[in-house]
Amino acid sequence: MENKNVRLRFAPSPTGPLHIGGVRTALYNYLFAKKHNGKLILRIEDTDRTRFVPGAEEYIIESLNWCGIKFDEGVHLGGDYGPYKQSERKNIYKKYVDKLIADGNAYYAFDTPEELEQMRNDLKALKISTPQYNAISRMSMKNSLSLPEDIVKQKLKNGEPYVIRIKIPEDEEIKVFDLIRGWITVNSSQMDDKVLFKSDGLPTYHLANIVDDHLMKITHVIRGEEWLPSAPLHVLLYRYFGWEKEMPEFAHLSLLLKPNGHGKLSKRDGDKLGFPVFPLQWTNPKTNEISSGYREQGYFPEAFINMLALLGWNPGEDIQKEIFSMDELIEAFSLEHVGKSGSKFNPDKAKWFNQQYLKQKSNNELANLYLPILKEKGLNPELEYIAKVCGFLKERVTFVSEFWDQSHYFFRAPEEYNAKVIKKRWKENTPEILTAIVEIIKDIEDFKAEIIEKEVKAFIETNGLGMGQVMNAIRLTITGANIGPGMFEIAEMLGKDEFINRIKTGVKKIKK
Ligand code: GLU
Repeated sequence: MENKNVRLRFAPSPTGPLHIGGVRTALYNYLFAKKHNGKLILRIEDTDRTRFVPGAEEYIIESLNWCGIKFDEGVHLGGDYGPYKQSERKNIYKKYVDKLIADGNAYYAFDTPEELEQMRNDLKALKISTPQYNAISRMSMKNSLSLPEDIVKQKLKNGEPYVIRIKIPEDEEIKVFDLIRGWITVNSSQMDDKVLFKSDGLPTYHLANIVDDHLMKITHVIRGEEWLPSAPLHVLLYRYFGWEKEMPEFAHLSLLLKPNGHGKLSKRDGDKLGFPVFPLQWTNPKTNEISSGYREQGYFPEAFINMLALLGWNPGEDIQKEIFSMDELIEAFSLEHVGKSGSKFNPDKAKWFNQQYLKQKSNNELANLYLPILKEKGLNPELEYIAKVCGFLKERVTFVSEFWDQSHYFFRAPEEYNAKVIKKRWKENTPEILTAIVEIIKDIEDFKAEIIEKEVKAFIETNGLGMGQVMNAIRLTITGANIGPGMFEIAEMLGKDEFINRIKTGVKKIKK
């Protein structure tokens, strides 16, 4: 494998936003390509115009960019094997389908939707559970195999609508090798004479996919399990074209499952289960319905990618860790450790990953991420100050957006005080005690946490007061509640004047 020019493609159809399962497919393609010093290509498969959704292509590109999945060639980058959008390759496919017809491996079919329906019903009446257009039924249908040649010619000349179907052989074993699943054998009598080309001049997915993979010199196809049933058809197409020797190797990824393990995680699950199923927020252009995205929820792309990588792949027994950078993933990735069974999506684990990445970030990085939130609130503190605050609190938050609830008092004096905390912590003599403490604090020259702590504790002890009671009352005046890191660290951060002001305001305002 190493001496072959490894080339992979991610080939989404622009039929809507990319689901996280699709992102995982793109990721595994990327990891495999990079692991083998290969190239990754982004191809847009948009031959089904009825399912085209405006904005979907842009969404897909933006999502992959956000995730850090980098391409070498593609619709957005160009390259030697373009164009990379199938609707722009329209004139390429015709000659290939013509060859299939000339070789007797494909044929014209003129059946109307009603006639096809009738055929299915007739076969069902004969107790055939999966009625198909195939060796059994095709000769009783209207196609270039069943009709006289002159009639076929006439129909084509008259411009009657037609499709071109592959001619699946009767009763042949078709073998597909899958890098994850091993050999899969399907009898061709189970297969349908699938439509390859339509009279609108566009190929269907199957034909365009095979022709493009061949012309773009794709060596490995890693895609979702939903394409496994199409793989025998694809193998047959490679055979009919005489390309079997250069046929890519296949790997079909198992599904992402709902958290309860029942059924696949689908696009329709978006937000219903309480977590996003899309990388970025998506607004449905028809209904204006908004589906949430990992980016907008505050996930770091690295955390999101790390979490997705481990849904269906494991690094093997020798590597006992869960946190992987993209480079480490590339290094550790192999299809051997991609599982055959579905992987349950775990939204709590997704949060856990984000928290790990947040904790790993430097206080400065976090401060830069927190700053826009503070600015939105009309605040513009020094970065150094924000960084210190982030340092105090980064163990307690999962998302940058949670910093504000945990740290607003570092930036703004409380405007109200939590009633429950007042009830529990504010005693009759509290105002008197706090007023005395203000007097002590006033005299502290070097306003450092340890010194403040020493002085205040000495006062409490000398006067035989309860440490908890006094400290909690101070905290209430400073934070408005019972939150925050060490009280004396907060004091040092706020500075003497602000600290004293807040205690005094609390004493004035807090009423039992
Ligand atoms: N266009 C197909 C999709 O949307 C690509 C399948 C494949 O990778 O062959 O999933």
